[in-house]
Amino acid sequence: MTVRLLRTIAEVRAAHDEARHAGRTIGLVPTMGYLHAGHASLMDAARAECGSVTATIFVNPLQFAAHEDLSTYPRDLEGDLALAKAHGVDIVFAPDVEEMYPSGPVLTTVSVREITATLDGASRPGHFDGVATVVAKLFAIAGACRAYFGEKDYQQLLVVSRMAHDLSFPVTVVGCPTIREADGLAMSSRNVYLGPEDRAAAPALKHCLDAGAAAIAAGERSPDAIEATMSSVLAGEPRATMDYVAAVDARTLERPASLRGEVRLLVAAQVGPARLIDNLGVHAD
Ligand code: AMP
Repeated sequence: MTVRLLRTIAEVRAAHDEARHAGRTIGLVPTMGYLHAGHASLMDAARAECGSVTATIFVNPLQFAAHEDLSTYPRDLEGDLALAKAHGVDIVFAPDVEEMYPSGPVLTTVSVREITATLDGASRPGHFDGVATVVAKLFAIAGACRAYFGEKDYQQLLVVSRMAHDLSFPVTVVGCPTIREADGLAMSSRNVYLGPEDRAAAPALKHCLDAGAAAIAAGERSPDAIEATMSSVLAGEPRATMDYVAAVDARTLERPASLRGEVRLLVAAQVGPARLIDNLGVHAD
């Protein structure tokens, strides 16, 4: 099987109409490219459940603030096509910015309230509007499908799920577990920014999450206490500068006085040139 590289919205619409007409379910895997095993796991999940798999590669300017890494974000279309092919992807949709935003700045944006008020939404103003807007466009282009997103970007997964639900997109959003390096570092395209010393320091984020999970396993239910444990572990790594640590309700991202049920632990930190995020799900009885 070969992978088809499509550059235009019209080509994707035609290919998806044809696949659906033939009775195949579309599996959609939106990415920014520079693909790794985390992306591959989404493609594998889509391949297992869908008759036709489309991966999208688009570094979306709308979700980067002016001071962020849009211009240096890593790109490797040839490597991406090889990985996509190896994981059974049928179509790679890699539009340029003009194809996605032909009239320049958009006048219409999608904004998901409340669950974007904290965490990365607070640290990166406008980021989730950019994400929700481009994902809404991708859903409108793809049509009825199952869309695969990683828990690695947990808040994004909640935002996209809520957006699809609120706006009645004919899309089932599927969350997939985080794929990690052997030392616990969550795979990310941005890990390429890390030099050897920063790379050695980066698993501190996972250690911080593990410490929060251990506190919950030991019976701690106070977000304050759990976050204090998490931040002290992160502070033990001098190359990591904390942005936030959080112990929150997994569904609402709210921070009750005492945690119960499904809890999400989240961390964001700067490690050398890379802003890294990670999270872990924990059940608190
Ligand atoms: P990105 O290219 O970083 O925008 O990511 C594209 C998709 O891959 C998003 O749904 C991410 O959550 C997901 N993803 C990125 N890294 C991982 C990982 N380590 N494990 C699982 N999914 C991931």
